Amino acid sequence: MTIYKMTYNAGRESVTLVNHGCNYSCRICSYRLREGMEPKRFFQAREVEGYLMETNPSMVMIMGGEPTTWCDLDRIARFCKDELQAYVRIPHSNLSNLPPAEVDQVGVSLFAIGKRKYIQLTGGQNSRVLSNIYKVYDRGTMLAVSTILIPEFIGTDEVVRIARFLAEIDDMIPFHVISYLPVPGMSWRGPNREEMNETVEACREVLRNVTGTYMTAASLFTRMDEAYLAQDVRIA
Ligand code: SF4
Repeated sequence: MTIYKMTYNAGRESVTLVNHGCNYSCRICSYRLREGMEPKRFFQAREVEGYLMETNPSMVMIMGGEPTTWCDLDRIARFCKDELQAYVRIPHSNLSNLPPAEVDQVGVSLFAIGKRKYIQLTGGQNSRVLSNIYKVYDRGTMLAVSTILIPEFIGTDEVVRIARFLAEIDDMIPFHVISYLPVPGMSWRGPNREEMNETVEACREVLRNVTGTYMTAASLFTRMDEAYLAQDVRIA
């Protein structure tokens, strides 16, 4: 897995590095909506370092697929700290691998506490994910967690189990609930707004920083485009 897109935003003084590929095969992955859009080329670590030196950002975001599978993540995160003193963010990770300590902030997708549900949904085990959440919290990495409400599979009870797990660590950990948006080939329906509201309110009884997003196809693509494309300078 490696980087196929690098962009620079002058207003935010930030660089976004976009990784290709993931070690999971989630049945609900929204990337499946973009199937067929394979990268044209990939960048070597020294090319990434060159781009970072040239742009000299104060923040570096590493995203796309599963960033912790990128073989040069440790090297580049260290480079960001040693050479640029930049803030390093991973906005979306399944946290199946522990990111390097140079990563300042990580957003974790945690779909279920129940082991069977987690495997059925992702194809991976959640035991390492749960222990990695403790590890990154204990070492002081800023942590935010999100999940997806799928009424017919990851219902309110399971989402509240996740909230309780987080509350045992720190009830101030930000938790974001996203409504499931049906992907091709899956029969599950998305929640209605009432189900979303009930779930968010139930989580607020155990955590102090809970938010929710009611997702539509239009809002999903707007978010992805904002994240990946709406940058000032784009190469590849
Ligand atoms: S971990 Fe994220 S990117 Fe990877 S398959 Fe699952 S939803 Fe998709």
